Order: sequence, then structure tokens, then C-alpha cells
Amino acid sequence: MDNIVTSSLPTTAASRNLSNHISPFEATVVKLLKQHGATVSSKTNMDEFGMGSHSQNSFNGPVLSLFKKIGVPLSPGGSSGGSAVAVASGDWWAALGTDTGGSVRLPAAYTGTVGFKPSYGLLSRWGVIQYANSLDTVGILAASVEDAGAVFDILNQYDPQDPTSLQPSVRRRIAANRRTPPKTLRIGVPTEYNIHELSSAVRAAYISTLQQLQNLGHTLHAISLPTTKQALSAYYVLAPAEASSNLAKYDGIRYGFRSEGPDALPRENLPLYAKTRGEGFGEEVKRRILLGAYTLSSEAIDNYFIQAQKVRRLVQRDFDRVFATQNPLLDSKPGGGGDEVDIIITPSAPTLPPTVDEVKKQSPVEIYMNDVFTVPASLVGLPAVSVPMPLSDDTVEMEVEGGDVKTTGIQVIGQFGDDELVLRAAEIVQ
Ligand code: GLN
Repeated sequence: MDNIVTSSLPTTAASRNLSNHISPFEATVVKLLKQHGATVSSKTNMDEFGMGSHSQNSFNGPVLSLFKKIGVPLSPGGSSGGSAVAVASGDWWAALGTDTGGSVRLPAAYTGTVGFKPSYGLLSRWGVIQYANSLDTVGILAASVEDAGAVFDILNQYDPQDPTSLQPSVRRRIAANRRTPPKTLRIGVPTEYNIHELSSAVRAAYISTLQQLQNLGHTLHAISLPTTKQALSAYYVLAPAEASSNLAKYDGIRYGFRSEGPDALPRENLPLYAKTRGEGFGEEVKRRILLGAYTLSSEAIDNYFIQAQKVRRLVQRDFDRVFATQNPLLDSKPGGGGDEVDIIITPSAPTLPPTVDEVKKQSPVEIYMNDVFTVPASLVGLPAVSVPMPLSDDTVEMEVEGGDVKTTGIQVIGQFGDDELVLRAAEIVQ
């Protein structure tokens, strides 16, 4: 994806502000892939700086899915839509993306591919252009869970150059926590995820997945994650806040694009950096910068940023209560969760992909709603994977209407560090 730096190809993060930027160094994940014999052939298009859910916010133009509805291309999901389409085309074996709030899982769900977001801190972020540091995670798109797992095994290494890379001591604690995957999985089904926005096609695929798992001998447990409803709002406070700070460095002095013409001259009273930022960032990025600068301002920080951080802790407590395994980052496990489970299964996205024309008519808040199922795991840094599930024939007739999309995404979420169990469970689902 074009927000992971390579020294041979430009890295633009789909922003005019980085147009023609060539990094003097290479991201750790790219170096590791090359060391293991991979050919890194191309960069893929995305939402500018990872901000979006449909890969339409790009200085390089929109990304189109290979699927269509009455001749109109569908959204490939975002922000790693280009990576998902590359894999879906069959011409690329695997692609990297980044997942801050769902940007690998949503494109996977929309394109019929597998999208894996590992636990936060396992894969190096050195050389990954920041969007929201406390959430940004390198993810993997592939045609199968096995292929995604093979890439993960190569990249899952401590990197001293990334200060948020999990230290060897924490990795040892995670390894010590690891059990042989149980033969019968206890699967959590969160009651709060049964929202009325869930389309009937997605709901039918979700129910049939759960039934199949039950038929294989796994057990289903209704669980409650009460803070789920606040998670999306908290994410859309925290991610823009971090972004507004991260993106301050694109000032026309240090990187790529710089505005020209008389307006950029000091005598016009408009400093170079203001002109550059005004012309260099797209609409959605500007919206996030303004939102983030506001929620971090002294008048608003208590009501927004601090509240959102509190919600983030509550979301973590919700998950820690229901997972049987203790979170290796914490000293104790909160009680009172009722049934304890090994993994949680949810839909990846509330609906089937809209067409790119439908996306144009959606408000920003309608677009943010797409992330409702992916954001909770992001806030807590949990491993989560989206696997394609076939749609049933009757729902295809009802909802696809002249379209050729045949799958939706089912998401498997695990406790922090339980990446291998998540992949194992995803293999059973796929
Ligand atoms: N759609 C979410 C956003 O715009 C998630 C993006 C991502 O994971 N990079 O912030």
C-alpha cells in the first residue's frame, strides 16, 4: 500500500502533499519480505493517509472494485482498497495494507478476500506513514487464511526502530500464554452487534456461519460487550486527534508538494505552509485535522478527547471480561463477564458494498458507520481477521439486484496476542 515506504518506488499515501515523495529508506516490513524472497512489485492506491472506508479519497483517483451492480463498479472498501483489489484480481499473491479502524478488514469483506489485522505492536510500523499511532497496524490481504498466515509469520518480529514494537519480554509472555488450540472452540456472539442497520444478506451469512460452526461441534455463547455502542464515536474522536498532530509536519518545507505563485509569498500575508496545506490535503483529511484540533483544544479536550480515552478503557474491559485468556498486557483479569470464550465472531461490515455512485451521496457520518464492527478490536489492539462467506441464493436475489458480488465478510476477533488462534479459527470458518 502506498503509505508503506519503499526506496525504489515513490510513496505518496495518496496525498498531493506527498506527490513524488521518494523515501530515503525502506519500511521494516518491506525489508523482511524481500529478505524472504518476495518481489515487491508495486504500490497500491488507498484513501489519503488511510482516512476513509471506500478508497475514493485519493489524489490518484478512486479505486474501483472488480464487482459491479448494473454496470456501476462497487466500492472496494477502504482505506486499503487498492491492496484488496490487487489480491482479488488474482495477479498478486498477497498485499500489505494498514488497519487503523478496519481498513484491511472492510476491503476484504467487500472484495471476497481475506484481511488480517494482527495484534497491535507485533508488526513493525517503522516506515509506515502515520495516521493515528496508537491504532495504526500493518495488515495483510491474501486469497486464503493460510497465505495471510505465511506473510504474518515472516513479519512478526521485534523491531528496535519502532518504539511501539512489542518488546521481546512481552512476546515471551504472549508465547507462554499460548495454549494448544482447543478442539471445540467456545465462540462468543455479541448481542450488541445485532444492530438494525445489519442488512438481511449479511445477517443470513452470519447466522449460517454460526450454524455451521455449531454443527462442527463448537459451542456458541451469547456475550455482552456493552460499550460497543460508544466505540465508534470514541474512535472518531481519537483517530482525528492523533491525525491532526501527525499531519502537522506536511508544511511544504520538509516533504514533496509546495504551493507556488504569489499567494505563497509572505507579502500576501498567507504563509507558505498554510497555502501548501490548503492545496495539498483533500477534503476528508482537512475535516479530520479540524475535528482533531478542536477536540484537543483546551475548551473541548475534557468533553471529547478525555471521554473518548475513557470509553477506550471500557471497551478493553468488555473484551477482557469475556475472553477466557488473560490479556498478557495486564496483571489481572476483570471478572463478571458471564460465559468465557476463546474467540468472538461478528460480521465484518453491516451491509454489502455500495456502488461508487451511492458512496458519493453518503454523508461523512454515514460512511463512518461502516466501521461499526471493526473499530472495537482496533481500540483495544486485538487480532481480527475478515474471511469471505458466500451469500445465500435468496439474499442474492433480494439485495444484489443485477450485481455480481457473491460473498460478505465474517470477522473473527481474539484476545490480545492470540493471533494464531484467530487464524486457526478463521481457517475453520473459511
Ligand atoms: N474508515 C476508518 C477511518 O477512516 C478506518 C481507516 C483505517 O483503518 N485506516 O478512519
